[in-house]
Amino acid sequence: MKDFSIARRRMVEDQVVARGVRDTRVIDAMLQVPRHKFVEEALESQAYQDAPLPIGERQTISQPYMVAVMSEALALDGTEKVLEVGTGSGYQAAVLAVLADQVFSLERIPALARRARKALDSCGYSKVNIRLADGTLGWQEMAPFDAIVVTAGAPDVPRDYLDQLAVGGRLVIPVGDRMSQVLMRITRTSEHEFKEEQLLGCRFVPLVGNHGWRDERA
Ligand code: SAM
Repeated sequence: MKDFSIARRRMVEDQVVARGVRDTRVIDAMLQVPRHKFVEEALESQAYQDAPLPIGERQTISQPYMVAVMSEALALDGTEKVLEVGTGSGYQAAVLAVLADQVFSLERIPALARRARKALDSCGYSKVNIRLADGTLGWQEMAPFDAIVVTAGAPDVPRDYLDQLAVGGRLVIPVGDRMSQVLMRITRTSEHEFKEEQLLGCRFVPLVGNHGWRDERA
């Protein structure tokens, strides 16, 4: 069995800490989660590189730095109920499983949801709940959430996410066009008030669904 712990430490030092991520819980989580288990075997040796990687179905596992920034922006202390939209490989969900109490994750592509389930179980992150569904509608039955993270680029902020956020809760979502977006953090400051912050430019695959982009293959 290959030992990736040195590559993982280097990834965290060079790509995460060196670029300004300070949340020690995020740093520890990324030192723990075996990222190479969330890509296909042929790509294992690239799993700790500073880049997104293909996971099939024209989708990607996000760049490690982006996972770190999004996780830090959620400001988790371990007590939260979190919703992720876009399970993909399951890697971000595994990081969230270390950082929060309950994790719910939505994926629209069956093959990815199946593979993510397998990877999460084999690494001991069975507490992550995955549902195959259009994530642009959120997960109404499990709301409210203390944090929502969307790992695909949205044309706008879907109303359901705001409705399903607890007061004090944080929504982190890339918003823009199909090619490039701005990572936004929206905090629900009271029942009817939200504070918006722009964090950084980014580039995600499209959020496809009812309140997202149209599926170009359909
Ligand atoms: N978080 C993932 C990871 O750690 O590997 C990376 C996610 S990938 C950049 C974006 C994912 O969002 C893809 O798996 C895609 O199928 C999914 N997606 C896009 N639109 C969606 C929707 N409406 N509902 C659920 N998942 C969606």
